[in-house]
Amino acid sequence: KVKETGKNNYELFMESMKRKIIDKLDLESDLRHAIEKEEFVLFYQPQIALATGEIIGVEALIRWEREGVGLVQPMEFIPAAEESSLIIPLGEWVLKTACKQNVKWIKSGIKPVLMAVNLSSKQFQQRNLVEMIERILDETGMDPTLLELEITESTAMQDIDFTIKVLKKLKEKGIRISLDDFGTGYSSLNYLKMLPIDSLKIDKSFVHDLTNSPSEETIAKSVISLAHKLNLLVVAEGVETKAQLELLKNHMCDKVQGYLLSKPVPPNEAEKLLRKAKSELEEFRGNF
Ligand code: C2E
Ligand code: MG
Ligand code: MG
Ligand code: MG
Repeated sequence: KVKETGKNNYELFMESMKRKIIDKLDLESDLRHAIEKEEFVLFYQPQIALATGEIIGVEALIRWEREGVGLVQPMEFIPAAEESSLIIPLGEWVLKTACKQNVKWIKSGIKPVLMAVNLSSKQFQQRNLVEMIERILDETGMDPTLLELEITESTAMQDIDFTIKVLKKLKEKGIRISLDDFGTGYSSLNYLKMLPIDSLKIDKSFVHDLTNSPSEETIAKSVISLAHKLNLLVVAEGVETKAQLELLKNHMCDKVQGYLLSKPVPPNEAEKLLRKAKSELEEFRGNF
């Protein structure tokens, strides 16, 4: 084998390491330029209240319109942005863009809906996070009670005292907090009780398994009823089938988000969805 390639395993390993490091640096430098050139767009995915079938919010989800590549999904660049700290300017752009959009929609006569924005772990650890958010609310004229910040369960659990302190400050401004990807981390129920949050998003991996077996259903049912006992709203993400929707409805889940209702869509399409009265939401009607 060594003779064939002329290289031993060690050399091959080093080459692949080098390649990976170069790719990473390329990605970081491209990201840096993309931030300067504002090559990003926010897509919006509607959240529907199960009780009424109405859109009561949207989640802002970033995409990168990478030159010569096309639309790049967040999983391909958010980790690099996080590692290089570029997530700080990028996250600020996201928040500002989402707030501006929310204000613009309301000014154009659309009924106010919640705007959910994801915060990464590094963003959440920033000392000046609360000040930054206040400044953006000020600059954009965004109603803080329409802003819902999503932090993942694992971000929240990193340093529980710090988390509680920051969340309290945000809640004082009227901002809502949602615990994202719930079920993928390791939060003890005791901690959940301590967190000043408003809602809990059941991770899509759980929603996916929901209809697989009675035990999966039981778990979901218990999570929902526990959340309700703690006065939290429950959002299910990644709802793809009618069977999942029915089950979530039966177990009193509050909101749903998923491809069954709509994929994340560009601003103009989101606007069209928001303008539709409930009775006009043909594609939704059949599902409720
Ligand atoms: P997330 O916050 O948990 O967002 C939900 C993800 O599930 C989104 O993926 C959404 O497109 C996807 N999704 C929604 N419905 C369905 C469904 O029915 N089936 C399936 N299979 N997937 C569904 P997306 O947009 O690729 O984002 C992935 C993750 O990237 C997000 O997970 C979030 O952690 C992160 N992210 C996205 N935008 C931002 C951002 O602006 N800032 C930060 N910090 N992170 C972001
Ligand atoms: Mg995606
Ligand atoms: Mg999210
Ligand atoms: Mg999630």
